Amino acid sequence: MQLENKVAIVTGSSLGIGKAIAMAFGKEGASVTVDYRSHPDEAKEAVQEIEKVGARAISVQADVSKPEDIKSLIQKTVEEFGRLDIMVNNAGIEEKVPFLETPLELWEKVISVNLTGVWLCCQEAAKQMVSQGDGGRIINISSIHEEITMPTNAPYCAAKGGLKMLMRTIAVELAPHGITVNNIGPGAIETPINRNLKENPEQMKELLGEIPLGRIGQPEDVASLATFLASDAASYITGSTYFVDGGMMRQSGSL
Ligand code: NAP
Repeated sequence: MQLENKVAIVTGSSLGIGKAIAMAFGKEGASVTVDYRSHPDEAKEAVQEIEKVGARAISVQADVSKPEDIKSLIQKTVEEFGRLDIMVNNAGIEEKVPFLETPLELWEKVISVNLTGVWLCCQEAAKQMVSQGDGGRIINISSIHEEITMPTNAPYCAAKGGLKMLMRTIAVELAPHGITVNNIGPGAIETPINRNLKENPEQMKELLGEIPLGRIGQPEDVASLATFLASDAASYITGSTYFVDGGMMRQSGSL
């Protein structure tokens, strides 16, 4: 097992990609804290599913846009499992509105979860890891929108673009402590965040035409890379983004 005796927190793991990562970590022997904001029943289910594969898990309600919630998320994890080895910053939101109509409140809401929240989680997790003295892993779930545009989603794209330089900069600062920091940039993954796609076959067809591998990704496609990056096998990998997008960023359209 790749993560035996490791302790992990996965933010936003009541659903979607986060849940798949929490499950995959449990299967590899990690003890996992399932963080959620508004779905306690789903978070409890995730804990039960992790326990079924023989791993330890707890659920903790923590809104990553609130500094005091993040402190208590880490504190409760350490109280329960004794330490923290792996921090996965997965929680994220999006709301598509044309740029000219986007109110400041929406910009602030998305940035507070998708960028400031990740910054806070990285800092609190790294403090804990540094105090333990034997390294750690930080993995941020970014997006292909670290690099490519998505009209009507400027706050989301700005946050994910920000995650690129946050990750690169703190990877250098935390390297002397043996803490690696990497981003995973998913393409189109089938989760509740894009449930509208399923209800819109035309849009789905158009999207599939932009994915060289010809299918939408599954949360498990992201979880397998997160598991590798969290493992000892990835100890020399830091400061980069790895895309899980079926080749979407490399497609050349009609050319
Ligand atoms: P999702 O299905 O909507 O799930 C989002 C998760 O984040 C939920 O567990 C939710 O918890 C949690 N969350 C939202 N706001 C939170 C907050 N303030 N504090 C704590 N938790 C919060 O989303 P997903 O598709 O799995 O996306 C996960 C990550 O992957 C996001 O960062 C997203 O940007 C990124 N991503 C997704 C795709 C895709 O195609 N799905 C593509 C690229 C990148 P509750 O439900 O309990 O509130």
